[in-house]
Amino acid sequence: MEMKTISSIREMQLFSEAARNAGQKISFVPTMGYFHDGHLSLMREGRQRADCLAISIYVNPTQFGPTEDFENYPRNLERDKALAGDVGVDVIFYPDNKEMYPEHYQTYVDVEGVTENLCGMSRPGHFRGVTTVCAKLFNIVKPHCAIFGKKDFQQLAAIKRMVLDLDMDLDIIGMPIVREPDGLAMSSRNVYLKTDEREAALSLSRSLKIAKEMYDKGERDVAAILSVVRKYIERHPHTNIDYAKICDTTTLKDIGHIAGESVLALAVKINRTRLIDNYVFGNRLEV
Ligand code: AMP
Repeated sequence: MEMKTISSIREMQLFSEAARNAGQKISFVPTMGYFHDGHLSLMREGRQRADCLAISIYVNPTQFGPTEDFENYPRNLERDKALAGDVGVDVIFYPDNKEMYPEHYQTYVDVEGVTENLCGMSRPGHFRGVTTVCAKLFNIVKPHCAIFGKKDFQQLAAIKRMVLDLDMDLDIIGMPIVREPDGLAMSSRNVYLKTDEREAALSLSRSLKIAKEMYDKGERDVAAILSVVRKYIERHPHTNIDYAKICDTTTLKDIGHIAGESVLALAVKINRTRLIDNYVFGNRLEV
C-alpha cells in the first residue's frame, strides 16, 4: 500500500473506519516528528502488531509552556516521510493547529496522581496537553493499540492511567529506551547540543549506570544513590539538575528505600536544552 499523508480529522476517521470495517487491526505511534531510531523502534513494533500502521506527526502546542521551545522545536517533514516509508508506515496523520484546536476549543483531559511529581512539577500544564492531544488522536485514528517509549516514563504512566480511567478501548504498549552507542538517550532535542554540551549530556546516562551498579551491589537507600548521581552530574559543566528522584513505578511518588519496582528519573538542563532519562530498578527485562 502506498503511504498516505492525511491532514483532515474527518478524512483520518473515515480512513480508520474503513480499515476497521475491512477487519484490519490498527496500531498507532503518536510523535512530534524529527525522527530518530527511538521513534523508528516504536514504528517497527507497530508494524509487527497490526495490519495497518498509523503514525501522527504533530508538535502539540498545548503541551509546551510559554517559555519552552515550541517555536524552535526541530521539524523536517520530508525526511520523516522517507524514514516512515522505509519502516512500512501506512498512513501519517499530519494535522495543523487550526484542525486540532479550532476557535472555541475548550475541552481538556487532566490525569491527577501520576502527573503531580517529576515533570508535572517543573512543567505545569504539560501532561494536560499530552493527555488531551492523545485522547483526541485516539478518537481520530481509532487504533487497537498505541505504542509509546519508556524514555518519557511519566507520559506513558499518564496515558495508561487515562486509558484505564476513561475506558478507552485500546492497548498501550511501552517500549525500551533507544540510546546512541555512547549511551545518550535518543531525543529530537539532541540536535540543539553543541559538542561540549553533548559531552555534558552523557552525564545523565552515565549517572544512571553508576546508580545501577550501586543497586546491583545491594544499595537500596534512595538518598545514598541520589547523592552520588547528583554529584556526578554536577561535576560536568553546563549542567543544571531540574530533578533527580527515585519513585515507585506505579504511583510515581518519591520513596526513601527501594523495595519494589522503582524508577530513577532525571531531568537536567544542559544550558538551555532540557533532557530527560531514567532507569528502572528491579525490572529484569530492562537493560
Ligand atoms: P516525541 O516525538 O518526542 O513526542 O516522541 C514520540 C514517541 O517516541 C514517544 O512515545 C517517546 O517516548 C518515544 N521516544 C522518544 N525518544 C525515545 C527513545 N530514545 N527511545 C524510545 N522511545 C523514544
